[in-house]
Amino acid sequence: MKITAVDPFILHVPLAAGSISDSTHAVTHWGVVGTRIRAEDGTEGFGFTGTHAHLASDRLITACIRDCYAALLLGEDARDIQRLWHKLAHCPPIQWVGRAGITHLALAAVDVALWDLKCKQAGLPLWKYLGGTTTPDLMAYNTDIGWLSIPEDRLIAGAKRAVQEDGFRGVKIKVGHDDPAIDLRRLEKVRRAIGPGMMLATDANGKWDLPTAQRFCRNAEALDIYWLEEPMWYDDIASHAALASATAIPVALGEQLYTLDAFRAFVDARAVQYVQPDITRVAGITEYLQVADLAHAHRLPVVAHAGDMCQVHVHLAHAHPASTQLEYIPWIKDWFVDPIVVRDGNYQLPQRPGAGSTPSEAAFAQLSRPL
Ligand SMILES: [Mg+2]
Repeated sequence: MKITAVDPFILHVPLAAGSISDSTHAVTHWGVVGTRIRAEDGTEGFGFTGTHAHLASDRLITACIRDCYAALLLGEDARDIQRLWHKLAHCPPIQWVGRAGITHLALAAVDVALWDLKCKQAGLPLWKYLGGTTTPDLMAYNTDIGWLSIPEDRLIAGAKRAVQEDGFRGVKIKVGHDDPAIDLRRLEKVRRAIGPGMMLATDANGKWDLPTAQRFCRNAEALDIYWLEEPMWYDDIASHAALASATAIPVALGEQLYTLDAFRAFVDARAVQYVQPDITRVAGITEYLQVADLAHAHRLPVVAHAGDMCQVHVHLAHAHPASTQLEYIPWIKDWFVDPIVVRDGNYQLPQRPGAGSTPSEAAFAQLSRPL
């Protein structure tokens, strides 16, 4: 089943809220940057990475797909995903300039497109292609009510609405003020609003140093915090290991890690307790499954990060035995052929063949940016 075309694309999806920020990032659009791959039978697979919709850097990703990877893919058998992953990841001149970063994000998009194509040819949704669900009641937790840029009164109202009206059994609140006392005040009010039984996770997006994170955790433990995500610089294994051994609050991370080797280093150092790979940053579904298996072998839960806004992760979380929870951010779903659906606090099983990664015709018509 030869590959006959590789066509990159850039879509910029505007946020309904206009803009949001956490301690580190501020975005007005989510970038869906990826590629369409066509096979000789006419089947098309779609894959993408997630970006801050910064056109200049998005174009570096599509240029890598168009100028480096396409020539390695055309004429190849689209079904040989493992072999093609290694061909692209280990192509010497490309590996020389990037074992992470742009080349890895581009490889992620290609890999997802190949899995999507293969599942469509098999007539199965990805979760079923991978062997079926181990987690029919996949719990969704709501992150979209918890941005740092949301003022306190709206934060509390949003958290209350999520659990009392929308059926969520968990929320995640962004933290990372220079003075963590401000975060603690917001969290105390949210805990009071949602009640004692609800999952209340936090996320500092890499902002703090070790003493600040330790001070935060000492005071936050009484609030039954489910996890503290990315408390410190993304690559700082030693500080995360020190924090994990000093606090009862579990450490979660992974959304900024590119490779299986990076995850192994954190797991080996006991620096992570909730493992959060993202198919849009590790190189696609192929490497995600390796990371999930690594975590599972250590009996660590896997809770994917939503760089794809869980269009693809919903399949993987349903299919992998290490996953029972998944983030919910509804930014891009309505621009996809098979949008994610949460009902009564649980992710529903997608039914269409493919990986859930196909943007709608309306998305291409209205959101495309020039390569
Ligand atoms: Mg995060």
